[in-house]
Amino acid sequence: MYQTLSEALAWASPQLLDVSDTPKLDAEVMLLHIIHKQRGYLYTWPDERLTSEQIDDYTKMVGRRVIGTPIAHIVGEREFWSLPFMVNPTTLIPRPDTEILVETALNLPLAEAAKVLDLGTGTGAIALSLAYEKPSWQITAVDKIIEAVALAKANRSHLKLPQVDIIQSDWFDSVNCYDFNLIVSNPPYIDEEDSHLEEGDVRFEPHSALTAPEHGFADLYHIADCARDYLAPGGYLLLEHGFGQALQLRDKMIELGYENVATVRDFGSNDRCTLG
Ligand code: GLN
Repeated sequence: MYQTLSEALAWASPQLLDVSDTPKLDAEVMLLHIIHKQRGYLYTWPDERLTSEQIDDYTKMVGRRVIGTPIAHIVGEREFWSLPFMVNPTTLIPRPDTEILVETALNLPLAEAAKVLDLGTGTGAIALSLAYEKPSWQITAVDKIIEAVALAKANRSHLKLPQVDIIQSDWFDSVNCYDFNLIVSNPPYIDEEDSHLEEGDVRFEPHSALTAPEHGFADLYHIADCARDYLAPGGYLLLEHGFGQALQLRDKMIELGYENVATVRDFGSNDRCTLG
């Protein structure tokens, strides 16, 4: 079948054409995970032979990818904000689009000891990236799913960011601090009827992290409504949303009394977050 590193890549890539836009990269990521090396190694030592155990493991991984399992679930990790986050099927896999939310938050004129809340933290990607950049911020991250709380805590230990407080809470239900300078969230915002949810990698992610009633607006509106009671004067609310939801969310936030409401585009030029 295959014995060397280059043969392993050549064997897997064609099988992944139907399931992935990046078949070669997927094959490389899985192989590197097995041999515990950096990418250059594959091309420096293409003729190195795999052990029979490595061949078994790689064959199993490729088999999972062929049926659509996300790479991040197969290798158990996804990079976000250049930091390694452990992932599992209980939460959303961090997306590069969400980095714009982190960048926007970091550019706000906040005090050294700013109080920050991340709602629906999942892996902890947003809260822990902010903590990594701003060690003096007092960051609280919440999620309603106990498994997500455990995963975020595991990432907190792994990234050595013990200052982040991680608690189980259904949005604001167990939050009892009312003077946050910044509240951020990447809540579920996809329309429950969206047919894309039946295709591709997203099938393996929890719908609870992806979809919301009211054409995806229910949680965005709920957070925007409640956040007013949990923000310090002059505090900011920063929400990620779908690229077609910016206008409607902006109108809602203005109606709720937010000022200076502005839409921020992601690196693909899509409207991705709203700040107020
Ligand atoms: N942006 C993600 C997607 O399109 C959804 C993230 C979310 O619902 N918060 O898959």
